[in-house]
Amino acid sequence: MDKTTTLKKQIKQKTESIVGLPMIRLCPRCHKGYMGYSDISKRDNKTEICPSCKQEEDFIDVEMLEKTLLEIQFLTILAINEKIKR
Ligand SMILES: [Zn+2]
Repeated sequence: MDKTTTLKKQIKQKTESIVGLPMIRLCPRCHKGYMGYSDISKRDNKTEICPSCKQEEDFIDVEMLEKTLLEIQFLTILAINEKIKR
């Protein structure tokens, strides 16, 4: 299994564990959780995707995937904090 596949798998697992927490949306394109505004994919002009996907619609590299993993960990912490506050 190459590094990209491994990272994608890790991202999917982490995302599944945080979806359902407040403020998290799931991007159908990269299967990662994100917060804030969604964007419309230029592929079909209707699918809502995350801002990173919008920017990198045609390009996913290992560096971006590693960054995504870090972002998911950050989002998880934020979401848990938000839950505790309520
Ligand atoms: Zn995305």
